[in-house]
Amino acid sequence: MVGLGPGDPNWLLPEARDVLSQATDLVGYQTYLDMLPPDLRLGATLHGSDNGAELDRARHALALASSGQRVAVVSSGDPGVFAMASAVFEAQSAEDASTDWQSIEVHVVPGVTAALATAARVGAPLGHDWCCISLSDNLKPWSIVERRLVGALEADFVLALYNPVSRHRPTRLADAFTLIRARRATTTPIVLGRDVGRPGERVRVVPLSDVDLDECDMRTIIIVGSSTTRFGPKGPGGQRVFTPRWYPSD
Ligand code: SAH
Repeated sequence: MVGLGPGDPNWLLPEARDVLSQATDLVGYQTYLDMLPPDLRLGATLHGSDNGAELDRARHALALASSGQRVAVVSSGDPGVFAMASAVFEAQSAEDASTDWQSIEVHVVPGVTAALATAARVGAPLGHDWCCISLSDNLKPWSIVERRLVGALEADFVLALYNPVSRHRPTRLADAFTLIRARRATTTPIVLGRDVGRPGERVRVVPLSDVDLDECDMRTIIIVGSSTTRFGPKGPGGQRVFTPRWYPSD
């Protein structure tokens, strides 16, 4: 299980590079395989697939590994954050999984997740307590997404929202922002990071009152400030955002 980071080869860990260069087979979403530097892609057999069907991809990887291949399953960012690592462990521990599969040694190589990469671009919005929520309701009911959003907003976490929107659920992001607007000041800093660390990167910082949800798609991550998150200086690096280390006492 190898995390590729957001896309920029400088954000690929040396351990990930080593594991990839030793793999005989690379399994993953085709878009992520395409992101790999050519020197890491050329020596191995590529097993690209479309997005979704994660368990099938995990089973395919385990079948290859049990036939003796050195398999690297790649994910963007970190493989344990809304990505393939869980699917591989789930396939490996399924009741009907063969004992061959259960004895395969699976290593997880971490990567820079999108929230950290985006935060670094704008300053330090994750400097105090924060949480990650995927807005995708493909794998969980929307009622759970709502419950978690409300809980996190009421507990005054900074939120990093992954999987904000897709063709199949165009209104969910607006539903999420209805919950957010009811619980955050209009001046709350919001960070929209699209294709961070990839060609065409676009990172925007706006107050909640000015967020244009049409700017968000599945390649975007959204960071929503807490009550203490503030705009910092607007310097050469662009508009800064940070969340102080302290929190006002009661
Ligand atoms: N494992 C990945 C997350 C996969 S879920 C990670 O750790 O980053 C896919 C979601 O991640 C996307 O819908 C988007 O919200 C976010 N994402 C992943 N890479 C991104 C990038 N380079 N720029 C902005 N958002 C990204």
